[in-house]
Parts: sequence; structure tokens; C-alpha cells
Amino acid sequence: MKDNYKYKKNFLIFFTTGLILAILYCLFVIPAVNNPDTDKIQPGFFSEQNNTVLSWIFPILLIIAVCMIVSRGAGRRSGKMMSFGKSSAKVYVKAQTGKTFEDVAGQDEAKEALEEIVDFLHDPEKYAGIGATLPKGALLVGPPGTGKTLLAQAVAGEADVPFFSISGSEFVEMFVGVGAAKVRDLFRQASEKAPCIVFIDEIDAIGKKREGHTGSSDEREQTLNQLLTEMDGFDGKKGVVILAATNRPESLDPALLRPGRFDRRIPAELPDMAGRMAILSVHAKKVKTEPDIDFAAVARATAGASGAELANIVNEAALRAVRNGRNTVIQADLEESVEVVIAGYQRKNAVISPKERETIACHEIGHALVAAMQEDAAPVHKITIIPRTSGALGYTMQIDEGEKFLMTKEEALARITVLTGGRAAEELIFGTCTSGASNDIEKATQLARAMVTRFGMSEKFGMTALETTSDRYLGGNSSLICSSYTAYEIDGEIRKIIRKCYENALDILRQNIGNLRELTDYLLEKETLSGSEFMSIIAKK
Ligand code: ADP
Ligand code: MG
Ligand code: ZN
Repeated sequence: MKDNYKYKKNFLIFFTTGLILAILYCLFVIPAVNNPDTDKIQPGFFSEQNNTVLSWIFPILLIIAVCMIVSRGAGRRSGKMMSFGKSSAKVYVKAQTGKTFEDVAGQDEAKEALEEIVDFLHDPEKYAGIGATLPKGALLVGPPGTGKTLLAQAVAGEADVPFFSISGSEFVEMFVGVGAAKVRDLFRQASEKAPCIVFIDEIDAIGKKREGHTGSSDEREQTLNQLLTEMDGFDGKKGVVILAATNRPESLDPALLRPGRFDRRIPAELPDMAGRMAILSVHAKKVKTEPDIDFAAVARATAGASGAELANIVNEAALRAVRNGRNTVIQADLEESVEVVIAGYQRKNAVISPKERETIACHEIGHALVAAMQEDAAPVHKITIIPRTSGALGYTMQIDEGEKFLMTKEEALARITVLTGGRAAEELIFGTCTSGASNDIEKATQLARAMVTRFGMSEKFGMTALETTSDRYLGGNSSLICSSYTAYEIDGEIRKIIRKCYENALDILRQNIGNLRELTDYLLEKETLSGSEFMSIIAKK
């Protein structure tokens, strides 16, 4: 029926094109050929007799050829339009993704869980013999850039079975029923090719919780229902494994997560110190580096960075090496690119007045001194007053010595004190304050709020949860869960914490006012101080 329709349509296109060309021919070509002037211009070839034959047969052949080309092109186009409801999943086999578990550094727990699935697909008898069935689906969850998509590609490379890869958003369609048809088609193809793996990236696009009211979400709901049905429909022994990835697992419909569907949850967390080192060296293999690169130092400076950010740091370092006319990457390239990723590029030709430069230097030394004088603050790594494209006019980098998973109350207070140190120094030296502390103020307030509402670190509220966090993997949106009176009191607590820390910072700087002045001058002259330089100057006193 569909084919019949296509046939008719092609024929119609063929026929109309022919007609148009014939009319054009009659209007222009015949008069021109019969025109005696033309004969004079082209003597010999068009003699009187073969003139008529050629002038008819040749154009007719031409018309037919043109018609065929046009109608074939149209046919191809309409073929695409008719594939409504076909899934656009890409099928990979090993050679095409080219990724293996070797390419994924760290993430050992995730790799282990996925290796089991790969093993099942290679040797199903081993599992069937004991009566075990494979989990039907596994859900990769974690913050962006931690290698979820990469892990799935690595599974494809390792498993040596067909691999269907599709993004959740490709199911989202304008017309009700089309997304569901695509799901049906995908699973039909998959069960034909079993054993195989189906990977749905960013599944939250179709797997969101269903809501009570209907209407605009009709299409999405139908697609989700179809997915649920399909996942129940095929039997686990056949060897179709469904992998999915998301960074918003809370938003998924509970029906998707129940056993028998995505019953396995594989977390891909941000890498720890060892993981960061491993990721850096995996990516550094792709670029030429000097042999004496210290990845540990870079890993220490990048606490909280994701795999994607680390990959970016290595690439930025390689670009910087090229820019400086070298053909290998050196340590300084990596260190500079860490700062590029944190704070943006240097603005070498920014014009800053001497007075403002002095204020900025004083502000940064304020942070650094307060950090150095407190036991619970992380050591100073670098102080600079070179402006960056992120808008920072200068900054003080602190790096913890070891990997930290917990923060004590003292450390939290010390961090807030360091953040207030910049403003405190401006206040002491110049007797006024500037807008330069806005970023510090924001960070200090955030941390103080978390201390009160989430960490149970205030005396007034103790261990009461006053806030919930959603979208943990996407930075976390928190919302208060308390009365407005309590909200009012929370604000009071936050103010109290910050004020106390600010007083403390002022005290520290008053006791070190000589250091503050001297180091400010030194920084103005040098522009950048390393942590060890800074500490040796203080130690001399
Ligand atoms: P997402 O979790 O958001 O899907 P991706 O898998 O797309 O993240 O990761 C993006 C890039 O980051 C990868 O192509 C890879 O270069 C790098 N990357 C992330 N995690 C790792 C890792 N564990 N090992 C090596 N590279 C990684
Ligand atoms: Mg991804
Ligand atoms: Zn500051």
C-alpha cells in the first residue's frame, strides 16, 4: 500500500517534468533550429535532412534522461520522509567505536559491573548452566563528564556484538505515537540481532516521571509506556542488554527503575586523586610529553574535576606547547592549563591603573596571609594578580595536601575566614572596601548556609535538616524545608558565622600588618608568587 503510493507519486513527478520540458522545447528550441540564421552559423553538421531527425530524437532522449534523474532524486527524498517512526539508532560493531576498557581510567567499580555483562554476552552457557539470568538493563548514573558515554562505547568495543546507540532525545517527536513507534522499531531490530546491546544515552529525556494531568506530555508518556512494555516483553535469556545513562536519576519514573527493568545502577562518580592521575596519563598518551611530567601535582591541583575537564586540560596544555613553538608538552603547560580551565585565559593587555593594582595585590595577600596563619586552612599554592578572562582580577590558589572526603567544622570556618581575608585587608590598609570581593562573599555565604541547613554545624539548629537537594549530579538545587520564621532565623545564623569569621580575619591581619604591606609591594613587583616563595618570606620574619 505504501509502495503503491510511492509509485504513483514518482510517476506523477516523471510525467510533469516531461511535460514541462516538452513545452520549453516547443517554445524555444524548435524555432531556433528552424531559424535560417542558425544554419549559417553552424554550417555542415545540421544538413537539411538530418536536421529534422536530430532535432527530434536527440531532445527526446535528453528529456527522458532528465526525467529519470529528477524522479529518482525525488523518490529518494520521499523515501526519507516515509521512514517516519523508524528508529535512527546507529549500529556499531567493534572496529567502529574503537574504544575499549583501556581507554577508561579509574571507574573501576563501573568497569567491573560492565565486564560481567560483556562476559555474559560472550559465554551465556556459563550463566545458564547455573540458572542465572542476566540483568536486563543497567543504568549508568553520575555527574556530567565522568565517562558514562565513554563506558558504554567501551562495552561496545569489548563485547563484539552489535551495539545500538541512540540518544533519548531522538525519541522525542512532535506527533503522538511516533516516539512509541520508534521504540518498537528499535526493539524489533535489537531482537533480530540478539545477542546485542542497546544503549540509550541521556534517558531522562524520555524517562521522566509521569504526571497526573495529561495534555502536552501525551507523546512522552506514550513513548515511556512503550519502553516499559518492550523491556518487559523480551526474555532475558535471549541476550539483549539495555544500557542507559543519565545525570538525573531522581527524575526518572520509578517504573523504569524497578527490578526486571533497569535493576542495576552503575555509579560513575567524580574521580579521586588516583583516578585523576590515571585519566591524565591516559590522555597524555595521545600527546607528546617530556618524560619528567609530574601527574600527581596536576591531579592534586584539580580536586573535583571530571574526566572531561581533565581531558580538556591535557589538550589545552598541548595547544599551549604549540603556541610557544615547542613540540613536547612540559609541566608548566599543564599547570597553566589547569588555571585556564579554572579561571580562563590570561588577559595580557588589560590596562589596570596602579592604584587598582595595589588594591588587588593587597586583597590577594590578605587571603593568602589569613590562609597561612590558620592551621585548618589549606596551604597556599599560588598568588597572582594577572587578570583572567573569567573576570577574576587576581586569585589565590590553595591546594589540600591529601585527598579530602570530609570537612570538619573548623575547616569550614577556616575557609570562610580565608574568603573574608581579602575584604579585611582592603579595609585595614585603605580604610574602604571595593566590589572586588563579590565572588568571595558569594562563596562564603554558600558555605555558611550549607553549614547551618545541611551539615548541622550551628548551635541554634543542631542536627536538623532544613534544606533538601535535588539533581545532586548537576550541582544540586536546594530548597528550604522549614517555616518562614525558621528561614528568617537561618539568615541570622549565616550572618553571625560570617561576621565572626570576618572579625577573625581582621585580627589575624592586624597582627601581621607588616607582612601585609611588605608582601603587597613584593607581589606588585613580581605579579605572581608561588606558595613556597610566599612561605619562605613569612618564615624569615
Ligand atoms: P558523560 O558522563 O557526560 O557521558 P563522556 O563519557 O561523554 O561523559 O566523557 C567525555 C570525555 O571525557 C570522554 O570522551 C573522555 O575523553 C573524557 N573522560 C571522561 N571520563 C574519563 C575516564 N574515566 N577516563 C578517560 N577519559 C575520560
Ligand atoms: Mg554522555
Ligand atoms: Zn578575593
